[in-house]
Amino acid sequence: MKKREWVENNKDKVIGYRRKSTEKNNERSKQWYLNNKKLALKNSKEWQRKNKDKVKIYSKCSVAKRKKVKGNFTIEQWEFLVKEHNNKCIICKKSPPFLDNNLTQELTADHRIPISKWNIWIKNHPEIKYLCNDIENIQPLCQSCNSSKGTKIIF
Ligand SMILES: [Zn+2]
Repeated sequence: MKKREWVENNKDKVIGYRRKSTEKNNERSKQWYLNNKKLALKNSKEWQRKNKDKVKIYSKCSVAKRKKVKGNFTIEQWEFLVKEHNNKCIICKKSPPFLDNNLTQELTADHRIPISKWNIWIKNHPEIKYLCNDIENIQPLCQSCNSSKGTKIIF
């Protein structure tokens, strides 16, 4: 029997199987999260020291939370975004490390639509479905472009 025919004749089985495998995946990722959470806590200090740039992202998220800015992004999403931009600042197209006053700087997570302009912006752009601090509103910038950009909106 051809595969398509088989699937057609065994729809219930196929749907059941798919459902089961999704459940299994959910269970697995829950487990993965728990395992890694434990590990992360255990190595927290050590990890923070080795991952200063990631710590910065975390603090970016908590600053946003304090300011009651909605949305959130994870380190994984940030790393994916940076990779998507070939590890380059989207304005000057340079890659880190950036040397600034003898300090090594990594790319910084900048809000494309600044927090201060967000509320007005979404009123005029109802098509935007993400939240201010979601990864969709984040872009990688070097420190110097970030400070000279200020609250301008670039795309
Ligand atoms: Zn730059």
